[in-house]
Amino acid sequence: MTSLIRHLNCATMSPRGTMGGRITPTRMVCHSLLVEGPNSLTLVDTGFGTVDLEQKRMGKAFVGLMGPALDQAETAASQVTALGYSIDDVTDIAVTHLDLDHAGGLGDFPNAKVHVFADELAAAKHPQGPKEKNRYIQAQWAHNPLWVEHRVQGDSWLGFESVARVSDDVLLVPTRGHTRGHVAVAVRRPSGGWFLHAGDAYFSAGEKENPPTCPTGLSVFQTLVQVDKKARLANQDRLRSLHAEHGPAAGTAEPVTMFCAHDATEFDALVDVTD
Ligand SMILES: [Zn+2]
Repeated sequence: MTSLIRHLNCATMSPRGTMGGRITPTRMVCHSLLVEGPNSLTLVDTGFGTVDLEQKRMGKAFVGLMGPALDQAETAASQVTALGYSIDDVTDIAVTHLDLDHAGGLGDFPNAKVHVFADELAAAKHPQGPKEKNRYIQAQWAHNPLWVEHRVQGDSWLGFESVARVSDDVLLVPTRGHTRGHVAVAVRRPSGGWFLHAGDAYFSAGEKENPPTCPTGLSVFQTLVQVDKKARLANQDRLRSLHAEHGPAAGTAEPVTMFCAHDATEFDALVDVTD
């Protein structure tokens, strides 16, 4: 049973968007979770790592477009140690996918097991076509992590099928489309119900609602980087239904508090929630 869950922002980014006709920076976060269990400490997504920031390993185009803060204090490694843990206390890392802003910190935890869907690892190691070739940074896993490759299993979770287990309290929920093997990560809350880290399955809090809303720039971006449009939109529909039927407002016995990786308003609403 999980005993403590913390929300960490492992990278602030300030891409320039338009608001009311003016070009203004938008604040984005890289929302990670640190999940303490009786015998485990699990990180969900890692943001950028220390070497990414030192060497600007994300590349000039990414840095220019996304405006990352490049603040070492935001790395998962800095935050884990500031909380009083050692690096080797982190036993497991679950990644929603292996894009550069989610996998950058893997190298800072070289002894952790890294849980990923097999399709995602195959895409990252052997990218096909320009979209996959441009999105992954091989150097982020040059240390050869202890990969735990999960394959489609028979488990189901609140209507989602083929769910894989990192543990009884941490589940990988297939939600492909943004990438080949994208998953959402469900974490059982000690206070009851679940958090669902939806990764990049959606980008804006308004996309959880019916009808969905999303700033134009983010809609265009999601379309540009998707590898499977049909699957991505179908999974957004399923997540919307989950939010309607199991969200905090639905009054169910097992409420699901869902958030995506990059929406700052969702992060701000949860950062002080520790349970
Ligand atoms: Zn992302």
